[in-house]
Amino acid sequence: MENELFPADFEKRVKNDAFLGEELLRALNTAAPVSIRLNPLKNFELDSGFQAISWCENAFYLKERPIFTLDPLFHAGAYYSQEAGSMMLEKVLKQLELPENPVILDLCAAPGGKSTLIASFLDQHGLLVSNEVIQARAKILKENLAKWGYGNTVVSNSDPKDFQRLPNFFDCIVIDAPCSGEGMFRKDPAARGEWSEANVDLCAGRQKRIVMDVWESLRPGGFLIYSTCTFNTQENEENVRWFTEQLDCEIVPLDFSPFKNDREETGAYALPNLVDTEGFYIAVLQKSPDSFRPAKFKAGNQLKTVRDISFLENYTDTRDKTILEWNNILFSVPQRFTAEIREIHQQLRIQKLGTELGTAIRGELQPDQALALSVDCRYPQRIELSKDQALHYLKGETFDLEGERGYQLVTYQNVPLGWIKHLGNRFNNLYPKEWRIRMRIE
Ligand code: SAM
Repeated sequence: MENELFPADFEKRVKNDAFLGEELLRALNTAAPVSIRLNPLKNFELDSGFQAISWCENAFYLKERPIFTLDPLFHAGAYYSQEAGSMMLEKVLKQLELPENPVILDLCAAPGGKSTLIASFLDQHGLLVSNEVIQARAKILKENLAKWGYGNTVVSNSDPKDFQRLPNFFDCIVIDAPCSGEGMFRKDPAARGEWSEANVDLCAGRQKRIVMDVWESLRPGGFLIYSTCTFNTQENEENVRWFTEQLDCEIVPLDFSPFKNDREETGAYALPNLVDTEGFYIAVLQKSPDSFRPAKFKAGNQLKTVRDISFLENYTDTRDKTILEWNNILFSVPQRFTAEIREIHQQLRIQKLGTELGTAIRGELQPDQALALSVDCRYPQRIELSKDQALHYLKGETFDLEGERGYQLVTYQNVPLGWIKHLGNRFNNLYPKEWRIRMRIE
């Protein structure tokens, strides 16, 4: 591997820090592992022979980095490519005393690695609000969550302080904070050029602000999971200590094995010299159960409930769902969270509500791409594609294909990819333009 030099101040810090030491620098100069997490609800299994990641279910190291773009199953949300260290989040979530149907906020969520993990952890129970403040990144988040296919997810594009309008709302808030990214130095040596002491200070200040801004929306007794992909104390231990000084909360002691407890025994690090990862930090705070409980929300009423849903039966499982209409588009959301979703819709800038089903025109559904990828989709008319056909489909092309007239769901290895409208001798490709593969596939 061609090594970029480390920034001199970073190198000096790490060498002088007995907790990290030169072993970390050596590990950052080796090739980063490649890992994926499978979607347990997408009917796809990896061949045997891949090393499982012990701290996260359905997660594996790959032997080499494939071109993910050329695998139709990647586009179908059958798996997500995720750094192994950040999969620590699953081990942490499993240890928290959460209600059976928790409401979880992933505040800094794009492109969606942690959110897809949280969705799988929830296993269609509870509700995940996945938020990203930067609009262009919120779009990518929406796409990745649509591909993952879980109906109990909402995507918003709001500033952390907007969540003050949802006081006492969440059982758990995950803050995977924007950080100085020292953990990126392994996979992406070019990232080393962007590091500076000043940026570490700037990130630490921003992280404090983000936590303070969103704190009120955590219910008393709820958990705040704080993480970064960096190794310095300012952004990690020192910030966590500061949170405990400023806020009515306590550190939650957890079993972090096989990771290394941090310098103050408050959280833990995935250090690339100790476990095969790029680097990650995590700690958990619990808001005091006796802290001030602000007023509960009143459900908003801007969304229309659709009562006659018989025309959807052929398309999606509507059990325990409420069908809502917003701007002429139909959404399927978990019935038990209808009031919460109405309120979220009223208070935040929404990108996605549950599963976007499509538009109803004269009692007929024009199905949306998100429905094709939803784990609740049960549309029976399907056409299986070869790998070559699937890639041409994902490029937005059309080609000769046998099939009956009307909407057909095209699949690859029986995993749905999207819709076509068959016209008898040819078909219209309905794969969304902005999702198309742009690279050459031959
Ligand atoms: N959780 C994501 C995942 O697993 O795929 C990665 C999140 S990345 C570490 C941090 C995110 O915070 C970025 O998407 C970034 O756009 C967002 N961000 C940047 N500044 C922010 C701010 N002031 N408040 C909230 N989020 C911010």
